[in-house]
Amino acid sequence: MKLKKIVWTMASLLCGVLLIACKSQAPTDFYTLEDFSRVEKIDAHVHINRANDAFVRGARALGFRLISINVDYPDFPPIATQQAITEDLYQRYPREFAFASTFSMDGWGEPDWLGNTLEQIRVTRERGAIAVKVWKNVGMDVRGADGRLVMIDNKNLMPVFDFLEQEQFPLIGHQAEPKNCWLPIEEMTVNNDRQYFAEHPQYHMHNHPEFPGYEEHMERRDQMLEQHSSLRFMGAHMASLEWSVDELAKFLDRYPHAVVDMAARIGQLQYQSMHDYEKVRNFFIRYRDRILYATDLTQPPTGSDEEFLAEARNVWLADWQYFTSDDEMRSSNLNGPFKGLKLPAAVIDDLYHNNARRFFNKAFSNNKTAQHN
Ligand SMILES: [Zn+2]
Repeated sequence: MKLKKIVWTMASLLCGVLLIACKSQAPTDFYTLEDFSRVEKIDAHVHINRANDAFVRGARALGFRLISINVDYPDFPPIATQQAITEDLYQRYPREFAFASTFSMDGWGEPDWLGNTLEQIRVTRERGAIAVKVWKNVGMDVRGADGRLVMIDNKNLMPVFDFLEQEQFPLIGHQAEPKNCWLPIEEMTVNNDRQYFAEHPQYHMHNHPEFPGYEEHMERRDQMLEQHSSLRFMGAHMASLEWSVDELAKFLDRYPHAVVDMAARIGQLQYQSMHDYEKVRNFFIRYRDRILYATDLTQPPTGSDEEFLAEARNVWLADWQYFTSDDEMRSSNLNGPFKGLKLPAAVIDDLYHNNARRFFNKAFSNNKTAQHN
């Protein structure tokens, strides 16, 4: 009896130890830097402009899947080349890689533009695209026969968005620029914007009052969304509301089908968290199911893959440190220190994985026939 009692006591003690061990896996836990490579992550906004698999493989080694977004951007390879590169990677790595297609604004105003565009979207979807992107050339560059800029709520664009809404095929929208673009250099919030617009005054809208203002771009985009209340929309770059988590919260409340990615705007969040830490942290916790981790990392057509991968790793690690730790950090984008948000692991899983899986529900499936639905 006595021996039995000892065994029982030991068993109880062991259970206690196990319980403590289990408790350390509770959802209120936090990740550390050591968890970085083992946690499943998705970078929901990158650009692969090179016909090799170095980025996909390098990402995978660090626990990342990639979503590459094709763009109607003159500094990138032609759309057909982007499509060929991403389609090939998808064929080879359907579980690790996904891509969004895009459509060209060439031929806008011609009678066959709409038919060709819808056909282009259908074909790329059949070839595996999980979404389609509309870029800021709509609103900032393309002009109609009347010489006026084609805005995102242009009536001749509506059949494209009607089709996407009807098909429940996600639209990725990048409209306008960071709000800094409409401010004088000295009022801009982050150094990368200061430098970019100083070097590219032609794109610095503060110098070009003849172009639409920031607010007009936001209103037109919202008009389009009002008319497509069940469109699955991802606002790229924090939906160009990167300067205010309050404005972003209003946007997400107003459009329950919308999500946003944080590509190339994490510096803006760090800037806000320098000034109101709790507000930014609470924003992420409250909207944890509406925000997708993304970087805008762009693999160029030429150059060293090793250097690019080293840069990607640095970006990913610095972001991971910002979101998972409460370390005091510095960045070349900001002129002062800021503190990591130390978000709970369950929130990190949403931002880095679950939201992209849910929103792009056809992504990373091995079942290619499922893509044809
Ligand atoms: Zn991008």
